[in-house]
Amino acid sequence: MTAADLGYRTVVRPPGDGRWREDGDCAQVDPDVMFPERSAAGDAQARRICQPCLARRACLDDALIEETGKAESGRHGVRGGLTPRERCELDPTVVGEAPGLIGAVGR
Ligand code: SF4
Repeated sequence: MTAADLGYRTVVRPPGDGRWREDGDCAQVDPDVMFPERSAAGDAQARRICQPCLARRACLDDALIEETGKAESGRHGVRGGLTPRERCELDPTVVGEAPGLIGAVGR
């Protein structure tokens, strides 16, 4: 499965065009919310913010590009609705760290 299979509803801007950040719903919230490791709220609140975000697909695509080959520990925050572990699971260049695909997609 790839990010394209996740069913994200809208591509506002193409990957690599950082202007999608202007469309992100997270631009309106405390940045710490999107970094559950910094927040007592955990990742649920960040996922709720990402779910309807029109920039979600471009955001996730850019995250996957920027983080290619990184271990889970080198990825931070919820991006495109996915946690660092979930993004790691989508990266075919990361071997042996996160077997299997996400059970959390669509949460
Ligand atoms: S998908 Fe989430 S992290 Fe990405 S821009 Fe939208 S709200 Fe922000």
